[in-house]
Amino acid sequence: MTANQFFVAVIDPDVERIVLRGDEHRHLAKAARVRAGDEIWLFDGAGRRSRAQVEKVGDDRTEVSILAAEAPENSRTRIVLALCLIDGKKLEAVLEQAAELGCSDFLPVVSARSFPASAERTGRKLERWRRIVREAAKQCKSALLTEVHAPRPLRELLREPGPGRRLFLSEHGGRPLKDVLAFPAEAEGRAPERITLLVGPKGGWTAAEVKEIRQAGFEAVSLGCRILRAETAAVSGAAMIAHFWNE
Ligand code: SAH
Repeated sequence: MTANQFFVAVIDPDVERIVLRGDEHRHLAKAARVRAGDEIWLFDGAGRRSRAQVEKVGDDRTEVSILAAEAPENSRTRIVLALCLIDGKKLEAVLEQAAELGCSDFLPVVSARSFPASAERTGRKLERWRRIVREAAKQCKSALLTEVHAPRPLRELLREPGPGRRLFLSEHGGRPLKDVLAFPAEAEGRAPERITLLVGPKGGWTAAEVKEIRQAGFEAVSLGCRILRAETAAVSGAAMIAHFWNE
């Protein structure tokens, strides 16, 4: 079995011993049943991982010593998955899978037909969503933690879409996503540092939104002639990008 992985806020290459408390300690001691002498992985969510050995498992803390640090994971394309709000359970499933696939950011978007949710309610959900991505990163032994952003109106995202390549999944057709990924149209012909993939809600995009999205520099891409559910489209799109550009 591969060693279990636990989250720490900072991995300082000069520090030899680390103490785990709270959720991470409980996960290690109670759920994973790790014992003194076992080897584990620690990750900081920012791309650093270290191998460590458990020295002592106490009632409320675990002491570990660092064995070796891995080279940081930073030469990859940052995948920003911007998904219009869908039903809460489905959104959480997408979030978990996006984290497993190594998306660097998850950005819920409020659009004309997105699932209605008050800012107050989604604000409360943020903590839960962040716990989901942390567990997903641990499960797939990733050194990166997906950053979960607060929901943002589509207009706001289009005003400041951030750097890198911009694509939007269109149920009305567009360039096949595989072609974009196989032949990145960047100057040097290699994958960009960052890509934003915008995915519509269950009800799809309005004609006015499509116009504004294009004006903001997003290219329409297609996953084929079937109309997929938003959650299927989001995970398929993210998986293709991760597979072509990051694996
Ligand atoms: N209700 C709409 C479909 C919305 S599908 C209708 O009946 O036309 C939800 C979202 O998934 C879309 O906005 C789009 O972003 C994405 N999507 C679904 N199928 C797709 C496909 N074949 N190619 C690209 N994107 C797709």
